[in-house]
Amino acid sequence: MSSKADSRICAYCRQAPVVVAFRPFCSAGCQARDLNAWLSDRYVMPASSEEDELSAMSALDNGDEAG
Ligand SMILES: [Zn+2]
Repeated sequence: MSSKADSRICAYCRQAPVVVAFRPFCSAGCQARDLNAWLSDRYVMPASSEEDELSAMSALDNGDEAG
């Protein structure tokens, strides 16, 4: 059996040991801040790049004229 004393560190600040009540964080503050970051990350819309795909296609179209 291996017993490690301080293998669990707060997932947010990575400085304080995890408290069971707030796993995997060290405190309610870190728990709330991490949740906040996670939520705001979800609300960010993914940027679509349709224009990039279109210009790539017309670039392919150009190669047929040389003969
Ligand atoms: Zn923390």
